[in-house]
Amino acid sequence: MRAERERKKKLIVAFHFLRAQREARDLAGWRCEQCRRQGLEARRRCGFLPEDKRGPGRVVWAHGRVGIDECPTSFVTPTSAEFLEKFFVWKAVGSGELTAREAEAFMALEIELRAEQTNGDR
Ligand SMILES: [Zn+2]
Repeated sequence: MRAERERKKKLIVAFHFLRAQREARDLAGWRCEQCRRQGLEARRRCGFLPEDKRGPGRVVWAHGRVGIDECPTSFVTPTSAEFLEKFFVWKAVGSGELTAREAEAFMALEIELRAEQTNGDR
């Protein structure tokens, strides 16, 4: 299902993007306000711009196997960020009831986390 694939992609992007930001590894600084000030938002294909105002379609952000043609700040939804937060809490606690959607999301995140650990890909 398309919507499901899209949701999963958002989650994976959120995983890599938010972690990179937290660890300040993302030196490009994907802050929409800053992009706008520097006139970068069209080139970076910010999702807050209407599609026809964005630059030509191309991958603007990538990490490992995942790449997107939209600014990751606008691409990542609050829902994905929330799932991510819950995932790390759940891992820290080591147990807890999960909804079907959480279980599905956490499995995808677990796969991503393990791939990162084995590849040492940071
Ligand atoms: Zn943006």
